[in-house]
This record gives sequence, structure tokens and C-alpha cells, in this order.
Amino acid sequence: MDSDILASLNSAQSDAVTSQALVLQVLAPPGSGKTKTLTARVAHLIARHQLKPWNIIVCTFTVKAASEMKDRIQGFVGAEVAKQLKLGTFHSISLRYLKQYGQHIGLDKDFGIADTSDSKAIVKRIVKKNDLTIDATQARNRISTQKAKGIDCEQFMKGAKKGDQQEFGQVYRDYEATLKASNLLDYDDLLLRCGFLLRSHPQCVSNVEALLIDEFQDTNNIQYDLMTLFAQRQNRITIVGDPDQSIYGFRSAEIKNLTRMKEQWPDTLTINLEENYRSSGAILHAAQNIIEQDESRPPKTLQATHSHGLRPILRKLPSATGEATWLVSEVQRIQKMTGGLLQPSDFAVLLRSATISRPIEHALGKAGVPYRMIGGMKFYDRIEVKLIVDYLRVISHPDNSEAVARIVNMPARRVGEATIKSLLEEARSQDLSLWRLILDTVQGRRRPTTKLNDPSMKGLSIFVDVILCGHTKLLSSQTEAVILVDLVNLVVKKLSFQSYLTKKYPEDHEARWTNVEELIAQAIDASDPERLQAMLQENALPTIDGLEQRTASSLDDMLSLFLANIALTASTQEKAEQDGEKLQQLTISTIHAAKGLEWPVVFIPACYDGSIPHSRAEDHDEERRLLYVGMTRAQALLYLSCPIKNTKREETSLSTFLLQPGVSGFFEEHGPSIALSSVTGLATTLRRDCPSTAVINKDKRTLERDEDNYWSVNGEEPPEEIAKWDYGKGGGKFEPTRPAAVFSSAA
Ligand code: ATP
Ligand code: MG
Repeated sequence: MDSDILASLNSAQSDAVTSQALVLQVLAPPGSGKTKTLTARVAHLIARHQLKPWNIIVCTFTVKAASEMKDRIQGFVGAEVAKQLKLGTFHSISLRYLKQYGQHIGLDKDFGIADTSDSKAIVKRIVKKNDLTIDATQARNRISTQKAKGIDCEQFMKGAKKGDQQEFGQVYRDYEATLKASNLLDYDDLLLRCGFLLRSHPQCVSNVEALLIDEFQDTNNIQYDLMTLFAQRQNRITIVGDPDQSIYGFRSAEIKNLTRMKEQWPDTLTINLEENYRSSGAILHAAQNIIEQDESRPPKTLQATHSHGLRPILRKLPSATGEATWLVSEVQRIQKMTGGLLQPSDFAVLLRSATISRPIEHALGKAGVPYRMIGGMKFYDRIEVKLIVDYLRVISHPDNSEAVARIVNMPARRVGEATIKSLLEEARSQDLSLWRLILDTVQGRRRPTTKLNDPSMKGLSIFVDVILCGHTKLLSSQTEAVILVDLVNLVVKKLSFQSYLTKKYPEDHEARWTNVEELIAQAIDASDPERLQAMLQENALPTIDGLEQRTASSLDDMLSLFLANIALTASTQEKAEQDGEKLQQLTISTIHAAKGLEWPVVFIPACYDGSIPHSRAEDHDEERRLLYVGMTRAQALLYLSCPIKNTKREETSLSTFLLQPGVSGFFEEHGPSIALSSVTGLATTLRRDCPSTAVINKDKRTLERDEDNYWSVNGEEPPEEIAKWDYGKGGGKFEPTRPAAVFSSAA
């Protein structure tokens, strides 16, 4: 098996995979096979060095990247072995440790996770309550920044100057107190507390033999500390990264961590990779030209292994709507041109900020091109899904006062906003959870000072009834007679949710109901005893002598695991992909969330000043790197575009990065985006690992188009047949999946 692993690598990659160094850094540009090398090293450690997969931690930054990585490792070692790895994002790995050993640092068994909207709501409420002038969203981000630096609220207060800093410090302090009272951890806490756990109970990680981290350039200090803690036993550490792709400085990522690592482990071996296997030469050169505008950056070598291909296209369109229409027509044209070789899933639209997706979504919808969204636009943020999930969260964890406040009048039950606010304050002042106050009130054990009229009292008791019903189900399920999906169905039924949606959203209730059905489907999936076992097994950490662990088995645990997974999963699509279901959909993503991924055709719209570089961005070098990351996602075709007027009908100016001297020479600016007549051959492999595609190159077959836009191959085969074409002695059928670099220019 080991030789198979190494056979697919070049010699520098092989050196990295087989290196005996205890601490290894692989630093290399995009598309040079860093992730490939990292995954191969995992496989090599298992196959050659007989490391147990459950003693290996593999870390990356996004849920999507983690699932891609798992797929790749699975390709080497098989699904059974891959499943046993401790593989995930820093957050999901930390969550695992905390769920299993959290009791040793005083964490309650049922701690919940405050997701981004919970955190925002808490900060907003604090700001409002204290009548502060501070901006709530900014304050929330600032809290995160402080946490990322490892500065807690008390430390901050000590150093705080009068005025703004004091005000913020107070918000920080109240925020922490609210989380504590509600038994919640926010995303930053997951990492911090895990660090605390591993520091005080190092035996939790005594079994860890190897630690591998992808996209290391984006680690912040807390993550660096976690790395050190995971690797306490002086075991193998491998990190891969690229300083040119550091794009999380705004979230306190520390590029200095690369040198810090070398200082901490002076024997660190650094290996560079210098060949790009992803993009056509033309795309690579254009991208390099952009990154080289940063003169402070050390020069680097990067060679294309693919042929030159077509120059990237830079287009100006009259408006954002015009840009979207053009973009979608290009998608359709290319699909037609290539006779079905390219599926919608071979296209990606990458955005600097998620907020500008609307015109593109609209145009795609109108043209009937299926699409999915990753990063920033989340399934679980959709109102109807969030509502059901909130009910589940409250059933699992009634002390989450934020969630209770959100749903107590949803669907509307005549409990007014002012009443909720007053109840919440009353609960706070008496050190009670909101749920406790409402429950006691409805059950006549307490008389609140908040005035409640009859309809509100009735509304509250309906709410209490739903939660108690759910709770009873949860308790009665200790005998495992009830499964998760029953609980979801119970909530949906109790709320008469389908008719509620019909009434409240007459225009799009069907789409909303589909989302609820999707959630139910996920619950069914998670309720399957085998799936649950697998989930528990995948989440389980090995038993360690002398350290008590929790075991999850009841519905209560199942629900808490399900919700924790929801809190950490960005979208259903990602979930579906993790489950092996590849969807034929175009991807819309933020550039940030597209890190590490690749597509044959990439569009980057809205390339104007204010969008990229973003008007609120402080660090222009980071914005440039962001554009670089976006461009280097493309394999065969890259489109950059800019509307002359933005959505607010203001005149735009082309991104300063694209206006620098010499840049235009790397792009095709005018004329039809791709002259069909110039596409005369398949530049490189249509699908790298499909033997039949090599035959195309060897035979120098050419693809040609007739007046009707039909393709032929050496003047013979019509395009529809390409997919079905059997090469006979060439070996195997040609399957048109994920072509690497389809086009080359006539030259
Ligand atoms: P990024 O910095 O964008 O994350 P990366 O360095 O991690 O890029 P990979 O994603 O590992 O790059 O590889 C890019 C593409 O090149 C992948 O499709 C991978 O399969 C392919 N590739 C990498 N190494 C080789 C090789 N030696 N031979 C053929 N293809 C390769
Ligand atoms: Mg990578």
C-alpha cells in the first residue's frame, strides 16, 4: 500500500511524506500538493510506521476542507481506517475533548454552544440594557479578538483606559457572565477551554502520536497553543501552509507562528514544493503577477505543470444585474460548448463578501442552474430551521435564556416583546434562568413582577407545554424507545408548523417546508442506530487510565451531539457531501471559505475598489492575498468581472490590484469571453486519473465545433457522445467528471 501512496507523488512531496523529522513544515504555493502531501503522510504513518489511526490528530480550518481531506485519506487507507482518525476543525476536535473530559475542569455535562447569532443577541441586549453607544457587532468581534489573544475580561479590565475601553470591558464582562449563567460556550471558548483542559490534564492526550495541520498560515495564538498541547509528548508534528495565502489576519491569525514554531523546535525541517498541478499556466501567471505586487514578499519559484491554456478573462459589465446575467450565460455557454463535459458542479462563483450574492442567485434561479452556497450563508440560519433547532436546544438545555427569549413567542402567542424583555431582566436580577421563571409562573409557584395579561399567560403556558412535552419524551427515552426524529416530529406537530408556515409565508412556504423536511431527514439519519453508533465511535476518544470519561448513549446525548454537530456544520450541503452524496450544483462561496478547494471554472465578480479591497479592510496586503487565493482556485478557466455601477448604482472603479502596470497583459479584456474557434484541443488530461484521457493527448485528437455549436473529435464523434465514448484499446470508458484543464488556445 505504501508504494501506491508514494507513486502518485513527485520527489519533493515524497521526501516530505517519508521524512523522519519529528517536526516538519511544508511551505509551498497554492496547488503544489500540500494537502495531498499531508494526507499521504497520514496514510504513510499508518501503513509504514504502524501508527494507530485513533492516535493521529488531523486538523484543518473549515468543515468543507475537513471533509475533502477525509475523502483523500480514505482514498489511500479505506473508509474504515479513515473513520478512526481524530480528524476535523480545531473547533470540532476541541468539542470532542470537552464533551468527553470536560467534567474534569468543572464543565457541566450538558453545556450548550452559543452560535454566532446567540453571541450577537447577547451582546446586543447588554449594549441596549446599559444604554451604551458602542456598536454591538463590533463589540462582539472585539470580544472574539481579545479571546483569540488569550485575554480574558478581567485581564482586559485591568489594562483598560477610561472611556471606550472601559465601556467595552464592561460589555465583555457581562457577556461572559451571561454565557456562564446559561451554561454556554461560544466558539472561542471551545478552543480556550480545551487548552485549559489539556494543560491541567495532559493525560487526555497521552495517546497522541502524530499531529498534522493544514493551512497553518491561518492559525491564531490559541490554535498554536492547542497544537503545542496536543503534541505534548514530543510526537510528530507536520504542518503545511503558505504565507501568501494568509487571509485570517483580521481574526488574529499570526503568520509569525511559522517562525515561532522553528524557535520552539530548532530541529524543524522545512520542505518547499515548487510545481503547480492545479491551474493552467495562464491562470498561474496572472495570479503570480498579482501576488508579486507585494514587494516585501520574498520571491518564490512556482512552475506550472499544465500547458498555458487560455488567458483569464477580465470583463466590465454595466451593472451588478448585468454582471450576473452575463456570468450565468457564460456558464451555460461553456457547458454547451463542451458538450456536457462540464457539470454545474465544475463551476464556482467566489465572492469577497457573502452579501453581494443576491443578483447572482437570482440569475441562476431564473436560468434554472442548480447552485449551493458555502461559507457565510447557512442553512441553519434560515428562520424556519433555526426555530425548530432552537426548540430542540431549549428542550435539551432549558437554561439557554437567549434561545428561550427568541422562541417563547414564535409562532406568535401574544407574548409581547416588552413582556419578554421584562421577564428576562427579572430572571437575571433574581439569578434565575428565563425558563425557570416562566415555568414557575405558569405552574403557579411564583408571582412575577412583570405584568402578564390573560392572553400572555395563555401564550406562556402553551410554550411551556411544548417544551415539557419534548422534555418528557427525552426523559422517557432513557430506555431508548424513542429516537431523535420522533422528538423533531413532536415539535413540528405540537407547533402545527406546516400550517404556521403556510399562513406566515404565503409566497414561499413550500420552499421553507422543504427546509424543515431536510432537517427531519437529518434527524432520521442521526437516529439510525448504526449511524449513531458510528457517530459515537467517530467522536469517541480512547480510554485513558485513571481519567474518567463520559459515554454517550441516551437520546439526551444523541440530541446534544446532533445539536453540537449542527452548531459546527456550515450547511446541509456540506453535510450531504460528508455523507458521500456529491451534488450536481454550482458553488457560490466566499473566498475565505473556498480556501484549499479547486474548480475547473471560477468566476470572481465585483472586482472593484470597496469590494476587493474591501472598504472596511485595514490590511490591503491581506486583501491582495485574498484575491490571489480566489484566482488560484481555478484549474482551466478564470473570469474576473466588475460592474461599472454597483447595486447602489454608484460608479465603481476597477480594483486597484487589477489596475497596476502590466496586469492587463495577463488578461483577455475584450471580445467574446472565449473565442470558440481558438479552442482546438484538450490541453491536458480531461480527468487526471482517467487512462482514456491520455489517449486523447497521445493521438493528438482535436475537438472542433461546427456552425451549430456541435463538437466533433477528429471530425468524427458528435459532442453528446463524448461522455459515452469507448476508447477500446485506449482502456476504459471516458467519464466526464471534474476535468482538470479543458482548454488550450490555438497558439
Ligand atoms: P492550496 O494551497 O490551494 O491548498 P495545495 O498545495 O494544498 O493547494 P493540493 O490541493 O494538495 O494543493 O493539490 C492541488 C491539485 O494538484 C489537486 O488536484 C491534487 O490532486 C493535484 N496534485 C498534487 N500533487 C500532484 C502530483 N504529484 N501529481 C499529480 N497531481 C497532483
Ligand atoms: Mg491545500
